[in-house]
Amino acid sequence: EAFNAAVADAAALNAFIVTTPDHALASADAVDAKRAKGENLGIMGGVPIGMKDLFATKGVQTTAASHILEGFKPEYESTVSQNLWNAGAGMLGKLNLDQFAMGSSNETSYFGNVNSPWRKAGSNAAMSPGGSSGGSSSAVAARIAPAATGTDTGGSIRQPAAFAGITGIKPTYGRCSRWGVVAFASSLDQAGPMARSVEDCAIMLEAMAGFDPKDATSLKMDVPAWEKGLNADLKGEKIGIPREYRMDGTDAEILDCWERGKQWLRDAGAEIVDISLPHTKYALPAYYIIAPAEASSNLARYDGVRYGLRDLPEGAGLQDMYAATRAAGFGDEVKRRVLIGTYVLSAGFYDAYYTQAQKVRALVARDFEQAWTQCDAILAPTTPTASFPLGSLSDDPLTMYLNDVFAVPASLAGLPAMSVPAMLNSDGLPLGLQLIGKPFDEQGVLNAGLAIQ
Ligand code: GLN
Repeated sequence: EAFNAAVADAAALNAFIVTTPDHALASADAVDAKRAKGENLGIMGGVPIGMKDLFATKGVQTTAASHILEGFKPEYESTVSQNLWNAGAGMLGKLNLDQFAMGSSNETSYFGNVNSPWRKAGSNAAMSPGGSSGGSSSAVAARIAPAATGTDTGGSIRQPAAFAGITGIKPTYGRCSRWGVVAFASSLDQAGPMARSVEDCAIMLEAMAGFDPKDATSLKMDVPAWEKGLNADLKGEKIGIPREYRMDGTDAEILDCWERGKQWLRDAGAEIVDISLPHTKYALPAYYIIAPAEASSNLARYDGVRYGLRDLPEGAGLQDMYAATRAAGFGDEVKRRVLIGTYVLSAGFYDAYYTQAQKVRALVARDFEQAWTQCDAILAPTTPTASFPLGSLSDDPLTMYLNDVFAVPASLAGLPAMSVPAMLNSDGLPLGLQLIGKPFDEQGVLNAGLAIQ
């Protein structure tokens, strides 16, 4: 009964593409059986979670929210989801997202927009849960799922977490295996947990992370006991405030939130220091060259031969089939990215765009290396604004892309970064604060987040 009520709530939000009650119930039975035998239940034992529909789940439709993958049931399980099942979790269903994780508002899904459970005070307008992990943020914020997986290529865990008033962490690039995760931009894609608290994120990240020989970029490092290591006493810690993150167009309330965050960290014993990340303003344009370039290459595999949709017009040849399948299967935003990506990789423009963007990426990473000589972690806003009504930005891709301006630098540098809920603005909407850490220092990020939460 409770499950059916939750399914009805979830249907109103459009958070799930499919629900999988049998999976959740089977995991609950397995936990009961273990408990009866006195066996260890696992660190996620009995916790039913939502799975972003970007993770391959064996025998369960996996679409990346695209028509081109509709009906695709993988023969294999992603490493991250398998790790979660091994730790005792069960799956409530596959969560909606922006198509191929491209978007910041969850309006590019073939399966429809996701609604946030939040409303502006005095308004009934449907609000964006953020994107691309908007099904995850919406379901967790609405208390339909206690936790969900997300993926973050240029902010897709942190921005939706901030919009929905929940917590989400993108670990260091390589912590979570990308094997079985539908690829968007492989040098940036990273999975992570989205949950109600820093503690829950720490536990779930422990379950998700770990070396995987099936992913060539997987980190060969042990998974620390992050939850045991949680400590909100920041005495002796230095937290950097990057001056270039004070940008035009940032809401006054976001700046106020940032000020409060500094004070909370000071109250926890930290010293606040001013730092400079001089190439910050070039990070977003570099990201919107690198990510589409990698996407255009990764998405070449959707050709009507191997997966999902096939559109084979009467008497058509192979090229016609590719064209018809891709024209019918990909949404507008995906096509925009493929066009940008193939353009910046084309012979005449490669050096002017792609090579240049890679140089900028190196400079952004160097900015952070320099910063780590002065501080242990960085505090910044997660987003330049709070959530916005669905439909209000969908015709304006450049403004939409600006949503990621604070999230993208840590992605380009492969650093761990988290969003924690900080306050409600004057419209009653949640604002998040972002903590960025040194490579492999998820613990430092979690601890500073704990001091804010
Ligand atoms: N919103 C960004 C984009 O559209 C980031 C997406 C993501 O992190 N998956 O590319």
